[in-house]
Amino acid sequence: MAYEPIWAADPSKLNKVELQKLEKDGLDVIRTIIEEYSVKGYEAITEDDLNRFKWAGVYEQKPKGEGNFMMRVRIPSGILNSDQARALAEIARLYGRGLVDVTTRQAVQFHWLRVEQLPDIFKRLEAVGLYSYEACGDCPRTIVGNPLAGIDPDELIDTTPIVEEVNRFFLLNRDFSNLPRKYKMSISANIYNNAHAEIQDLAFTPATKVIDGQEVAGFHVWVGGGLSAKPHLAKQLDIFVRPEEVLKVAIGVTTIFRDYGYREKRHHARLKFLVADWGPEKFLNKLLELIGDMPKRGEDKIAGWQAAYFDGVHPQKQPGLNYVGLNVPVGRMNADELTELARLADEYGDGSIRTTVSQNVLLTGVPDAKVDALLREKLLERFSPNPKRFMSRTVSCTGNEFCNLAIVETKERARRVAEYLDSKVDLDEEVRIHFIGCPNACGQKHIADIGLQGALVKTPEGMVDAFDIAVGGILGPGAKFNTVLKGRVKGDDVGEVLEQLILFFKENRSPEETFH
Ligand code: SF4
Repeated sequence: MAYEPIWAADPSKLNKVELQKLEKDGLDVIRTIIEEYSVKGYEAITEDDLNRFKWAGVYEQKPKGEGNFMMRVRIPSGILNSDQARALAEIARLYGRGLVDVTTRQAVQFHWLRVEQLPDIFKRLEAVGLYSYEACGDCPRTIVGNPLAGIDPDELIDTTPIVEEVNRFFLLNRDFSNLPRKYKMSISANIYNNAHAEIQDLAFTPATKVIDGQEVAGFHVWVGGGLSAKPHLAKQLDIFVRPEEVLKVAIGVTTIFRDYGYREKRHHARLKFLVADWGPEKFLNKLLELIGDMPKRGEDKIAGWQAAYFDGVHPQKQPGLNYVGLNVPVGRMNADELTELARLADEYGDGSIRTTVSQNVLLTGVPDAKVDALLREKLLERFSPNPKRFMSRTVSCTGNEFCNLAIVETKERARRVAEYLDSKVDLDEEVRIHFIGCPNACGQKHIADIGLQGALVKTPEGMVDAFDIAVGGILGPGAKFNTVLKGRVKGDDVGEVLEQLILFFKENRSPEETFH
């Protein structure tokens, strides 16, 4: 039996989208797409259902009205096998003009899809155990995790089965398909916080605790993080969670969000606002009321933050095997490159390709004896294990090439700026540069060494693309968002302004001082 939506008692407290969701659950649109819209075509789609397409993982692409769609595919922890990668490449080739984007949540995005093609795409995904469902919408999205799960010398626990269990529970679960807003989780036991815990609605990070005289490896829990126009760092709760209790805690936190989260104003509906109002203690009390008593916090095992970069060849925890981190410039590849990655994964590794929140990929399970031959493969000239400094650390959201919310173009500009800086600036450290096309912050501008947020600026020739620049974002111990600098820089000038900024740092830094 479905749960009772206690928050729906007073419709005058619900925004327009809430009323739409009460009328028809977002998940119901999947059947309507398959049975009706894919047959009748784009013109038949109602405005309300077009909004519900997100629950199928599908957004209308820019420009609106032309019937082209973007689709996001969930990849829990970013772990794909080669068959899945080939299926993704085939979808991109058949329907998406060959374009494949890796997102900052380890997901994959297609563009240019038509509604008539969606049923076949859903089928092709399902055949290899992948889903676009609930990759967007007011529901639990892709679970971000440790892309090195199971092979990571720096992990406390292999989180693969935990992420699978939590993903299986929430995916298409109608008890949790109508949350006040999007809801982002991460589960990682990597000690370098490579799933960006502090910017998630709910995050599990590695911890230990002595229980009954035994040291137990488990997790600490963070709630209420998120970016956008009002960024919040998540707060840690005073509990310790054993691996087998992660799902229970995830259900408890998600239930609180569903039942007590704000539904009056869309821009004030994320979990972060509830956590900020309640504070972690009240939030924890409510959680314990729902799930029963839990042990108090143990010892944190986060040792730092490596921002999920893994360039080059690294030993796995399995002796004699390696993972190889490859740079995918601004997260964009084509179908043939993804097919080729699948071949390399089979021929040299264990058949696995992993995506990272830094929009890059890893090949895993490569025996020592095969490393050199892999490094000689042609594809690695483009997806380099030793990328140039700035290209290696440049992240970008989709921008106005496809995104209806974008104010400016980002992806191609980000690539050009990185190339420019690599040709002009000789620096002995990496500087993470993130571009976003609007305040929604899909490209996670706030956590970058240099974050650029798209805006417009008036010139004698009219309004032109510009960027606000912020510096000094960092996660892990001492986490803080970056600080916006005064002034706004025209899009065409970004490369030169960043060049001057970085050179100023280089010439004036004190010994041992790093950019961030
Ligand atoms: Fe679109 Fe804004 Fe997200 Fe960029 S940050 S993809 S412009 S919504």
